[in-house]
Amino acid sequence: MTQFPWLGLALALSVATVHAAPSAASSAAHAHALAAIAQRQATPEAATGRYPLSVASGRQAMVVTAHPLATAAALSMLRAGGSAADAAVAAQAVLGLVEPQSSGFGGGSFLLHAHSGEVTAIDGRETAPAAATVSRFLKADQQPMRFNEALADARAVGIPGTVAALAEAHQRWGRLPWSKLLAPAIALAETGAPVSDRLYRLSAQDELLARSPSTASYFLDPEGQPWPSGTRLKNPAYATLLKSLAKEGPRAFYQEKWADSFVQQLQAAGSDISPADWQTYQAKVTPALCRPLTWAAQAGRICSSPPPAGGLTVIENILLMTQANAALPLDHRLIEAQRLGFADRQRYSADPAFVSVPVDGLLSSAYVQARAALIGERAAGTVSAGYVFPALSLATDPQVLEHGTSHFTIVDARGHWLAMTSSIEDAFGSRLMVNGLLMNNQLTDFSFVPELDGLLLANRVAAGKRPRSAMSPTLVLNAAGKPVLSVGSPGGSRIIGFNTGVIARWLNGEHDAGALVSALHVLNRNGITELEEGFPAARRDALTERGHEVKEAGMASGLGVIVRKANGLQGAADPRREGRAAGY
Ligand code: GLU
Repeated sequence: MTQFPWLGLALALSVATVHAAPSAASSAAHAHALAAIAQRQATPEAATGRYPLSVASGRQAMVVTAHPLATAAALSMLRAGGSAADAAVAAQAVLGLVEPQSSGFGGGSFLLHAHSGEVTAIDGRETAPAAATVSRFLKADQQPMRFNEALADARAVGIPGTVAALAEAHQRWGRLPWSKLLAPAIALAETGAPVSDRLYRLSAQDELLARSPSTASYFLDPEGQPWPSGTRLKNPAYATLLKSLAKEGPRAFYQEKWADSFVQQLQAAGSDISPADWQTYQAKVTPALCRPLTWAAQAGRICSSPPPAGGLTVIENILLMTQANAALPLDHRLIEAQRLGFADRQRYSADPAFVSVPVDGLLSSAYVQARAALIGERAAGTVSAGYVFPALSLATDPQVLEHGTSHFTIVDARGHWLAMTSSIEDAFGSRLMVNGLLMNNQLTDFSFVPELDGLLLANRVAAGKRPRSAMSPTLVLNAAGKPVLSVGSPGGSRIIGFNTGVIARWLNGEHDAGALVSALHVLNRNGITELEEGFPAARRDALTERGHEVKEAGMASGLGVIVRKANGLQGAADPRREGRAAGY
């Protein structure tokens, strides 16, 4: 609990409702930041329609990943007596080949792990190098770069943390030898991994793939055309890296030989990452961020990844929604809770090693009650952040970025639950391919401008800092400490709304995993209400009657959901991507 819960109460009430863009709109920097956003929103990891829904049941174990071959690799580890952590390593190594546009060892991730009521968070987020300063994404005239300019600069690449995060998980909860976990990926890299329909479509749309010769020669044929789906792509450089890590262990990724190899190639592309930056990378292991939760006369907990991940906002949203007037329709409560939570995120969420993030204040019952009381009959337009001690003097970040990320979730026969969201940021990340890995562009998740109207932004760039993320693998646990729901998704800043929606529907009594991943999205990022394409007209009209300005859009979520049911586990993969659920 915060030391000053009364402050949260007083200040939540001061929330103003305005229907215009945030008040700093007059400043030139703000106008440019908005221009950068507009540019950014034009280049998300695109929706590619719906694929067949994959749902599975199992009494003991369950795997949901974004690709059937990654699910098969994870399942083979579980069947061999491995743990959820072992299966996660196998899944991630395969995803780096079969879904390379979304995640891999060149990126970062947030992992949540629960067993015996203990929930642990591992932060494997990319870090900014020691040479980074607040002006990293400012041009000579002090105006922010456009997103695509920043992306095309190797200084968008952060030191990758996914291997370190998996190493921590394996050290704590692994049962199989590390070397065995990489075997499926090594075999696929050598014999060739099939190009999926989605990879084909995304490669066909991507104008930046030709940027680096190593990337172009892998993803495009000699005529510059994308390889058709079903083509088998061999990745000998990845196989060489994996074989070395299999033999020498995961820390070898950060030690001299590989550090020098990655850093030299990145520096040749314009990066300022030093060998010391690479070698000193550490994943952070902490207790998960958890809060009590009640539903259907049950008392339990909701746990997610703490800042710089997005779990703080998912939890705040759920608390706001459950505290709001229950007589209001679910769609409206869900939208308004997201709106208020997103406003707080844009002001307060960042790397807690660098800024004081008022987690306890934002989640205190006094603050949540006061803020939930703002949820009225009508849509609130654009709202301000509440004021929470001690972060009184920060600017609200107008930058709302999108999308290459993957989510997977695994339950093993010993009752370990693992949920991991893993990213290289944009689809195909920085488009720089080094040692068989697409390198991330995660540093573009920092706020490009360090201040607005004289106030600092919490998420400004700094040396060694981790950029704010929306990624938020989340678990709900019952009173006995057993997980009953696991959820996570890619989708840029929409992730928070995707995950909030699943949890809200589950709390509302929808416990079918297939229904949870299929439900049409209802989102709000503190502005217009975004409805997923195909939204029923009657529900849309009910929202516009309450004053919601609505817009329909295609939405490339990639939910992975597992629910505990009376007779076992049920898993489902989001039909908007190519995932597979399988269990036994
Ligand atoms: N870079 C985003 C984040 O960390 C995730 C991008 C995505 O989901 O595609 O919030």
